[in-house]
Amino acid sequence: MRPKMERAILDVASSAQYIMGPQVKALEEQLAAYVGVKHCLTCANGTDALTLALKAWGVGQGDAVFVPDFTFFASAEVVAIESATPVFVDVDAATYNIDPESLENAIEKVESEGLLRPRVVIAVDLFGLPANFAAIREIADRHGMLILEDGAQGFGGSIDGKKACSFGDIATTSFFPAKPLGCYGDGGALFTNNDEWAALVASYRVHGKGSNKYDNVRIGLNSRLDTLQAAVLQVKLNVFDEELERVNEAARLYTDLLKNSVTTPTIPNGFGSSWAQYTIQLAGSEQRGEVQQALNEARIPSMIYYPHPMHSQTAFKGISNAMPYDTYISNKLCETVLSLPMHPYLTKADIEAVADVLVRKCM
Ligand SMILES: *Cc1c(COP(=O)(O)O)cnc(C)c1O
Repeated sequence: MRPKMERAILDVASSAQYIMGPQVKALEEQLAAYVGVKHCLTCANGTDALTLALKAWGVGQGDAVFVPDFTFFASAEVVAIESATPVFVDVDAATYNIDPESLENAIEKVESEGLLRPRVVIAVDLFGLPANFAAIREIADRHGMLILEDGAQGFGGSIDGKKACSFGDIATTSFFPAKPLGCYGDGGALFTNNDEWAALVASYRVHGKGSNKYDNVRIGLNSRLDTLQAAVLQVKLNVFDEELERVNEAARLYTDLLKNSVTTPTIPNGFGSSWAQYTIQLAGSEQRGEVQQALNEARIPSMIYYPHPMHSQTAFKGISNAMPYDTYISNKLCETVLSLPMHPYLTKADIEAVADVLVRKCM
């Protein structure tokens, strides 16, 4: 895609419309159509996208926001930024996503304590796989709560043909380079079918603007997507479905080669993953250490996503009420998971080389 990319980047440079140039609006329309929702609003990064959603809903002090205990820090950080309370919920061992039964238990506990108002569930599409939105929607409806879909890793995933980032009342994504649809720096977006929330997000992302930028009606952020990044994303969106096929092919091959040696990822019936990560589980932290060392020696990169459950993060000491809730699976996953190389341009030989090391170490 190099010639197209160079032209797209130079077009922005010579147009000098660096902020909110025409590529931004065009990309938003393309993304909304791709996902199948009415509104897409881009912003500076995936963390700001989550923050903008919480601001649009007026989430703040006294509100409980339920977040999986096994996710990237930003999913819960944004709750604390808005002075609301993150309540950490356990995940499903097979899908790595929020466990509906643990969610229900945590909500009931918060309701019976009566100190916080359950407002929002942040359901993360971890490693590219959409969360169990049928079950989460039923629970959220019953308790009068909103769903914020953190699709930072989920863009391109699907359930029964419906695209990720269409399941939350508001959904967000990130264009950080390592995400399924990555740009050449930071970027993010929100998706919603709700006109009122879309208008609020449009205001909050530009200093809480009213009728114009110098009429400020609320305290907001400066959080726009650079025109340059929008241009990069337009080129990459063109090949995205092809890349999605390639990562799915890579995942199938990994699973074929590894399924008798380690715990391979589970994709439930009807679900599609965009494979932000291909994450296996080993028998324990000792075996994981040995495997990582063997991969290292073969000059194969691997990463632990994530080494610490959210509730144990230093930053949340004193502000979370995670401790009363049982997050046994999240704790265990932090000891056993390992993410292997995954991107659309892996060759069969690359994958076989990675699998070789693992199969030898995990007989
Ligand atoms: C990457 C990520 C974010 C934050 O996105 P940034 O663009 O890096 O701010 C939020 N949630 C999850 C689950 C992520 O993986």
